[in-house]
Amino acid sequence: MARPTKALISKSALRHNYKVAQSLAPDSNNLAVIKANAYGHGAVVIASILEPLVPAFGVACIEEAIELRQGGISKPILLLEGIFSSDEVEIAVANNFWIMVDNSQQANWVLNAKISAPVKVWLKVDTGMHRLGLQPNQVNDIYLSLRASENVYDDIILTTHFSSADEHASSATSNQIAVFNQTKLQLQNCLGKNDVIPCSLANSAALLAFPETRLNWNRLGFMLYGNSPLDQDNEASKSLMPVMSLKSAIISIREVSAGQSVGYNQSWTATRNTKIATVAIGYGDGYPRSAKSGTPTLINGQRAPLAGRVSMDMITIDVTDIVDVKLGDDVILWGAELPVNEIAEFSDTIGYEVLTRLSSRTPSILI
Ligand code: PLP
Repeated sequence: MARPTKALISKSALRHNYKVAQSLAPDSNNLAVIKANAYGHGAVVIASILEPLVPAFGVACIEEAIELRQGGISKPILLLEGIFSSDEVEIAVANNFWIMVDNSQQANWVLNAKISAPVKVWLKVDTGMHRLGLQPNQVNDIYLSLRASENVYDDIILTTHFSSADEHASSATSNQIAVFNQTKLQLQNCLGKNDVIPCSLANSAALLAFPETRLNWNRLGFMLYGNSPLDQDNEASKSLMPVMSLKSAIISIREVSAGQSVGYNQSWTATRNTKIATVAIGYGDGYPRSAKSGTPTLINGQRAPLAGRVSMDMITIDVTDIVDVKLGDDVILWGAELPVNEIAEFSDTIGYEVLTRLSSRTPSILI
């Protein structure tokens, strides 16, 4: 009998979420972002399910892209963080990887590469995130020199990344859109009216909350895994279905008296006579160690709070109020009725981090 700790990965939820994105942006190419092992869901597994639906994938770096090729994935793969050395241009051409150019050094690597075929380039503008991207006043020169080069396909995509599209009350996104539009206009004037500049703005949050950002290409990650990136849900975000359910089971049950403590450092003390269930999952599996007492779990469809510190291999739960609880009962740590974002809040982090921390000890099962 195997340890009961498993991440169940739902193919139908993944396809459903992709269709939600497509229904919001039917005229866009909706690229699936599957970096960081597809946000903990398994990059090759997720790519294989999405491959018939998507035009391309996005990953952080060339190592992640190579893993997908070795896993049999053949659609184009965009290297979202750009390239880290000049030799990556050749590898990109040989493997149909698309290159994000973020700075003039990367542009020069592309321009000076000895390659037998052109590479597809996305050109990133820094419109306000101040992390990566060309300054708006650098764009015309670099775009034109890339376009004039035989090393680069003509249809260079102009792109930017939003810092705060998840924040309902922030004006940052509209400011970034304004800077982007101004940069594009200045480039358009330089190219001539008939030259079409393909553009990419939206990540998940922007796609869900800022319809004006749905352009030629959207780059979608978190929402495809069925979770909302927004700090205030809307109709579309509410229709997403979590792809991962993290599951384990009760391996021990005991009674503790009022005044007794549970777990490392006695951080939680019973205020009444309490039934404690021990569950076979811990931070060694990817359950956040920072999850506070009170973090909800789901047992027999009922919510039961974490009591005491998360250990490496186990957690302890107050199941006093759970009807008919017994050894071997399934415990859901996050999933359909228990959004990972809630667990993240109790752990002072975001759902993105919780998902990507799932450890290799936790087997994934496709359902
Ligand atoms: N585009 C870029 C450049 C990114 O770095 C990311 C992820 O961080 C995404 C798109 C996808 O973002 P999200 O998962 O919020 O949809």
